[in-house]
Amino acid sequence: MSDLLPHPVTGQAFASPVPPGTGWPDDPAAAGTPVAETADDVARLAAVADLPALDAAVSVCRACPRLVTWREDVAATKRASFADQPYWGRPVAGWGDPQPGVLIVGLAPAANGGNRTGRIFTGDRSGDWLFAALHRVGLASQPHSVHAGDGQRLLGCRMVATVRCAPPDNRPTVTERDTCAPWLVREVALVAPWVRAVVCLGLYGWDAALRTFRSLGYDVPRPKPRFGHGSETVVVSPDGDRVTVLGSYHPSQQNTFTGKLTEPMLDAVLRRAAALAGVLEG
Ligand code: SF4
Repeated sequence: MSDLLPHPVTGQAFASPVPPGTGWPDDPAAAGTPVAETADDVARLAAVADLPALDAAVSVCRACPRLVTWREDVAATKRASFADQPYWGRPVAGWGDPQPGVLIVGLAPAANGGNRTGRIFTGDRSGDWLFAALHRVGLASQPHSVHAGDGQRLLGCRMVATVRCAPPDNRPTVTERDTCAPWLVREVALVAPWVRAVVCLGLYGWDAALRTFRSLGYDVPRPKPRFGHGSETVVVSPDGDRVTVLGSYHPSQQNTFTGKLTEPMLDAVLRRAAALAGVLEG
């Protein structure tokens, strides 16, 4: 653990990584939150958690040794431009409306983004793009998401990462993906009664969403629908509820710098999801 540094919004001093339950804005955990140390622990804890307990348990999970080492090393070392800030350095839980009409599924937190700020898609260029678009279509209260505690709110919308810890090179292993999957499966199950549209950022999120719905007993088309920007498919719950799954190119710098993904393209997918979910534009 590194020296104490002030939180950019609150000014409270924190070590990096941040000990659970010590006052970081939106920290879902307490000092006594149970810690998953293995894949079996993840499955066992996820199976019985409600949403607050799930967020808490996710945020202290230690089941993937390589990712725990990486996230904590990055937190202690820090990028030079953030050397004066504490780093969250823990898994990043889902964030947003607990009863969302729109669910956004990404890959994993960024080492100097979510792993620093403690909020998904917050503190990096991809997140800047995404939050600006969410605000334009009425799904976020502010155009910027800078840090936990900045007053940003998602409106009728929730964001989750498929893998909850920052992976080296943004590439989790298959074992890490599968170890983390019960957190995602449980979260989707808990919010499913409200979700009408799922926006998958990139192929990784698309595959994860379809795999998750299938594991929850949803009827998912076979062969698996192909991912593309603007692609859509409908999955149907055992009770007959329909959820539209939409694909979007990931707002990575590679995609936005090259023009593969433009602002109107991202807005169109998010606007479609908001309309499907009946979330009004702001
Ligand atoms: Fe736990 Fe998921 Fe992080 Fe692995 S990736 S340590 S399962 S939160």
